[in-house]
Amino acid sequence: MAIGSGGEEQRHRHACAACKHQGKKCDENCLLAQYFPAEKAEEFNAVYKTFGVKNLTKMLKSVPNDHRKQAADTLIWEAMAWKEDPLQGPRGLYNRVIAELNILQQYHSARSVGLCGEHDLGVQEIKYQLSTGETSRSKEYQQADTGHRGWVAPPPGWVKINVDSSAPFGDYIGGGICRNSLGKCLFGFTVHQCQGSDELGAQFQAIIKGLIEAWTRCHRKIIIEINSLEVVHSITNGVRPQDHFIHLSKIKELLGRDWCCRVERVGNEANLCANWLATMFAHESPGDSFFEVPPISIASILEKDLAGVRGL
Ligand SMILES: [Zn+2]
Repeated sequence: MAIGSGGEEQRHRHACAACKHQGKKCDENCLLAQYFPAEKAEEFNAVYKTFGVKNLTKMLKSVPNDHRKQAADTLIWEAMAWKEDPLQGPRGLYNRVIAELNILQQYHSARSVGLCGEHDLGVQEIKYQLSTGETSRSKEYQQADTGHRGWVAPPPGWVKINVDSSAPFGDYIGGGICRNSLGKCLFGFTVHQCQGSDELGAQFQAIIKGLIEAWTRCHRKIIIEINSLEVVHSITNGVRPQDHFIHLSKIKELLGRDWCCRVERVGNEANLCANWLATMFAHESPGDSFFEVPPISIASILEKDLAGVRGL
């Protein structure tokens, strides 16, 4: 089928990417020349591998002439998506966008409902925000409105560190896990306390450990979640249990750095991973521990928490 335009110019140009690839002479009748000029060799190669020349030609011919450019661009887009993600192709991209949308919608609805906050229907959160370089504290009570009591992923660009403590062997152990907006585990740890330590101390130490690690890894938007109201109060209100002066001073120093940190209280169901680290994982791995790839024994809890990424 003749393209029928720009004939004089086309006669003198180089073979298009398609003809070059097939070792054919490219003339003015070449259907693919205007969509795959010589400089689009990479795009053609991807389309060729995904669809084959025969299908490509057939698909382009099946749409009206003035829509072919759009069809060719779409095929290129799809083929490049397959090239980037051989497992899921365009669906992988689609899934990532949907996951991001769900997270944004969750946060949007939590925010718009949360500020009326008189009824105690959901998880009460105490937020502590320290914005860049400022010392002013803002406390805001928010309630969850979705009925979802499990873990919720942080917004894109943020990381969330869940922290908990327990005393499976008598001495207290703090545990924490840091995840991003896609629910991916970035790191996790346990901190074993010295003899005679208490629950608060283990939680403070876990918060310190998590914040230091996040800072070192250049994360600058952090949400700390913990289910102890006492810990959140001590940090947000500056209440200093006598025994923990050093811990709280360290946390204050960390929160005052040039980043954005929030400390929030969550229910147990939203804190399962951290709880598991401070209890069960302590059996698996005695002594302080640190990991980037989560241990297999936590996989089912991590998977459960992913409901908070998929928006249920
Ligand atoms: Zn050609």
